Amino acid sequence: MSEEPRVEMYTKENCSYCEKAKDLLDEKGVEYETYNVTGDEELFDEMVERADGRKTAPEVFVDDELVGGWDETSALERDGKLDEKLGLAVADGGETDVEHRKLIVSGSGIAGLTAAIYSARSNNDPLVLQGDEPGGQLTLTTDVENYPGFPDGISGPELINDMQEQAERFGAEVKTGIIEDVDDTSRPFRVELTNGDVYTTDALIAASGASARTLSIPGEDELMGYGVSTCATCDGAFFRDEEMIVIGGGDAAFEEATFLTKFAKKVYLVHRREEFRAEDYWQDRLQEKVDDGDIEIMKNTEVTEIRGSPEEGVDHVTLVSNPKGKPSQKLDDPETEESHFDVGAVFLAIGHTPNTGYLEDTAVELDEEGYIRTEGGKGGGQTKTDVPGIFGAGDVVDFHYQQAVTAAGMGCKAALDADDYLETAELGEASAVHEGAAASDD
Ligand code: NDP
Repeated sequence: MSEEPRVEMYTKENCSYCEKAKDLLDEKGVEYETYNVTGDEELFDEMVERADGRKTAPEVFVDDELVGGWDETSALERDGKLDEKLGLAVADGGETDVEHRKLIVSGSGIAGLTAAIYSARSNNDPLVLQGDEPGGQLTLTTDVENYPGFPDGISGPELINDMQEQAERFGAEVKTGIIEDVDDTSRPFRVELTNGDVYTTDALIAASGASARTLSIPGEDELMGYGVSTCATCDGAFFRDEEMIVIGGGDAAFEEATFLTKFAKKVYLVHRREEFRAEDYWQDRLQEKVDDGDIEIMKNTEVTEIRGSPEEGVDHVTLVSNPKGKPSQKLDDPETEESHFDVGAVFLAIGHTPNTGYLEDTAVELDEEGYIRTEGGKGGGQTKTDVPGIFGAGDVVDFHYQQAVTAAGMGCKAALDADDYLETAELGEASAVHEGAAASDD
């Protein structure tokens, strides 16, 4: 057996990615030390130095070597390389064990966990694979004030933790794992994970949500984690007293801009058009901050380049503006103006892309943007896809409502539809063996 390496993690308070990284290491049974940098400037500086200038938490080190933040740590896990780095026993490359499950739920956001609660209570023994973003988007929000039943609001991570606990209480199993591929040509379905694990399953609920969109502009990738971020609640505090830009005109951008006024010298909301999508509630709250001088709105404006360095962070951005909107598409228009703008951090809040890559080779129908097309309509079976036994729920299906409570509702529907399928469908050979084994255990 390999010798145990020393694992260290810099964390901060209210850091959902730190919690995700801790959960991953806990699941692996690894011992690690944590250093909380919140309110400790010396420790923060130490983290930045050891992490090659990165100012985001978590930062994970193994034997004094920088692994990185949640993205890098989860990427290692996704590629099946984390166990080796952590000195854990690694599969010998022989035949992979294939485990059969009655129901797999991909995604551990609000849709997936609600599906897990209902499926567990229907004795369908769900295995929830957490995916790239354990807990989903709610773990990246601060207060959720519109989820029924919480008159004073509840924090997103707390709501998710409670739901996971509730699902586990009824027997759901929640594991780290990202599905790479689903083979729907045979029954049971074959489900391969990025870390090499393989399952077969009688039914699959796809509740894999959507991930933050990026702009694909120069400087964005290089400075991600060094002043460019898709999560204001995670990273805002690291850029205290800096001027910050939030890009977007929807609820997320308005919420993030409002939140960032706690830390920023000033927040600039940069939106490509004249009209906003954000609901009146957020527009009113943001206007209060504009009246106080904490936020300035830049309409009909886009960021086309982010300049800076990993060592020094973001220095300035290039802005283009045009009174007719969407200026980056009108660069030759005489009314388009370009300028440089000094800023310390850039937060992207420009919507999400559905996580459905693992379904691309199946017969599940996806729309042009990759959202799953489900049966919809009235009556039972609304979450069915084109493939009997595969169901869709939450943001991976719904590009319109995208609310926590609607995702929960769809998760519930998918669990009921899957239960109906599992009760009535003719399942494949492996399931019959599995059912037989289960029956003889009783
Ligand atoms: P939205 O799709 O609502 O808004 C995305 C914004 O980003 C739009 O204003 C869009 O501009 C802009 N955008 C998209 N692509 C680009 C680009 N390439 N360059 C510049 N700007 C771009 O996404 P949100 O994440 O804000 O919200 C998604 C859902 O989640 C909504 O249903 C929302 O209600 C909900 N939500 C609710 C919250 C709450 O109530 N607490 C908080 C956050 C989200 P344009 O308008 O021109 O298309």
